[in-house]
Amino acid sequence: MEKMKEKPAISKATTKRLSLYLRCLKELNAKNITRIKSSELANLTQVGSATIRRDFSHFGELGRSGYGYNVKDLITVFSGILDTKEEKKIALIGVGNLGQALLKNNFRRNDNLNIVCAFDNDPNKIGQIIDGFLVHDLSELPEVFVKENIQVAISTVPSRYAQEAIDIVVKNGVTAILNFAPDPLNVPENVNIRYIDLTSELQSLIYFDEMVNPS
Ligand code: ATP
Repeated sequence: MEKMKEKPAISKATTKRLSLYLRCLKELNAKNITRIKSSELANLTQVGSATIRRDFSHFGELGRSGYGYNVKDLITVFSGILDTKEEKKIALIGVGNLGQALLKNNFRRNDNLNIVCAFDNDPNKIGQIIDGFLVHDLSELPEVFVKENIQVAISTVPSRYAQEAIDIVVKNGVTAILNFAPDPLNVPENVNIRYIDLTSELQSLIYFDEMVNPS
């Protein structure tokens, strides 16, 4: 019999909303709020309550009509879905200002997400220890990826160099990439890549805020 996948198949959009719900629910829990209605969560997250109810329906009977949802129960279910169970070893490419901030932070609130190696192409950085990491030349990448069993890569190289950096990462077997640059890159179909563009995130937040809270 085919082995069942542990994680339910949910869309990328739902996954993103789950992590938004989870953040909100943890805040409610910290304030000792024990239950919440979908309409209240809709106000907090700005996700429509019909969408919330549909998202929640993927995960069985989570709520009771008239009662709403138990905050702790939701946290347990959503953390179970989103949290990775095994340690993921991550490589960072581009030890500039943003890259160094990530090395310093290193997802310290999540034990299973660990940046374990860093790469750059600047001769002034290669061979230096920055934030506790030896900066490797890209030519060392194949060897380090195998040795460290790298499964995820984060790129913080400038947009115009991102394609060449990602090509090397992909060539060395990594299929999950977080790219801190907005321009779409060419990657094979089996490679999952997410783009984080802090400027456009901020602009869209401000646009939304000005719409709902006009000055
Ligand atoms: P700094 O001034 O310290 O370089 P920065 O954040 O201003 O920091 P950026 O120009 O954003 O630097 O570049 C980020 C990092 O990416 C730099 O360390 C740069 O050397 C590195 N980098 C650029 N191109 C590549 C590449 N193709 N492969 C790996 N690293 C690269």
